[in-house]
Amino acid sequence: MYNSIDQYNIQEFSSWSPSFDKKLIIAGPCSAESEKQVLNTAEAIVNDINIFRVGIWKARTQPKTFTGIGKSGLKWLKKVEELFNIPTMIEVLSPEHVKYALDHNIKYVWLGARTTVNPYLTEEIALALAGSDMRVFIKNPMVPDISLWMGAIERINNAGINKIAAIHRGFQSMYSAPYRNEPIWEIPIKLKCMFPSLPILCDPSHIAGKTEYIEEIVNKALSLDMSGLMIETHISPKDALSDRAQQLSPGELHELLKSIDSSQNNIINSGIGQIDESVRQIETLRKLIDSLDESMLKTISQRLKAVEEIGKLKKDINIPALQVSRWKEIIENRINIGNNLNLPEKFVEKLMEIIHYEALKRQ
Ligand code: PEP
Ligand code: MN
Repeated sequence: MYNSIDQYNIQEFSSWSPSFDKKLIIAGPCSAESEKQVLNTAEAIVNDINIFRVGIWKARTQPKTFTGIGKSGLKWLKKVEELFNIPTMIEVLSPEHVKYALDHNIKYVWLGARTTVNPYLTEEIALALAGSDMRVFIKNPMVPDISLWMGAIERINNAGINKIAAIHRGFQSMYSAPYRNEPIWEIPIKLKCMFPSLPILCDPSHIAGKTEYIEEIVNKALSLDMSGLMIETHISPKDALSDRAQQLSPGELHELLKSIDSSQNNIINSGIGQIDESVRQIETLRKLIDSLDESMLKTISQRLKAVEEIGKLKKDINIPALQVSRWKEIIENRINIGNNLNLPEKFVEKLMEIIHYEALKRQ
């Protein structure tokens, strides 16, 4: 099902720059607010990061909030590049923004979640990028639809860009609590299966919405071997004009990166014997998972066959396929069973809904 589509010639990070062979770290403020805020933030984090990010134009939900400093902020980024010898990266939300980025010789841009959700706009941005040497990071769309994400990647690639990376920033969803956006990890994993050379990073800031959750999301992303992180960082988060609750201070960023560095080194240094044993155990558990999945799917297939039988009988005696009271009973009962098996209520509910949806199609 997940045949990779590698005619796209997307380049792995190591061929973008030799310094990108480790985890790529992108950080910087949500928005550029003043020259001082931009320069002070950059100076405080330059030694911890590979690319300095900053939002120049902001697509804010409420019109009366800060919508970005606009193109006058671009000259501050040039100063950052000159003073601290680090590349900068901005979000482009229109073909006009691409033109400004190219005019200012900015080498890295990203497409935000509100852009990738819109194929027409993505196409226009792709056309504006055509023929350039821009490196383009593509965030997942707001909604959990992998084909929109893939479509955006293909459009940018069709414009002749092959330095492309994706960023998982979570999805707007009713199941996001306690986070701001729900991280649906299987979606970036499927994307990786489709585009094996595509680097995929994680943006824990927009998933978390609050700094207190950032570390656990980072750990999850690293356990899935994602290629890097984009983390919002502000010289004084409490004064930030956008996304105040989720921005780290430079000191907090430093501590976070130090802790992941040492845990990555621990993995490498934990001794060959230990690694052999762990690899063996992982293999065994994978086999277990394979066979459990097979029996789970067989059980679901049997359940759906039973549903089809019931469907025929209902037709014979002319009663509708869906009886709400029966469905309620099922959900309550399965949630109880799940409770006893230590399965979260929301999970059981979602799972039963997916099965029920397929069952209704068959009746
Ligand atoms: C951002 O990174 O500042 C941003 C607006 O991100 P997203 O598109 O993920 O909301
Ligand atoms: Mn932001």
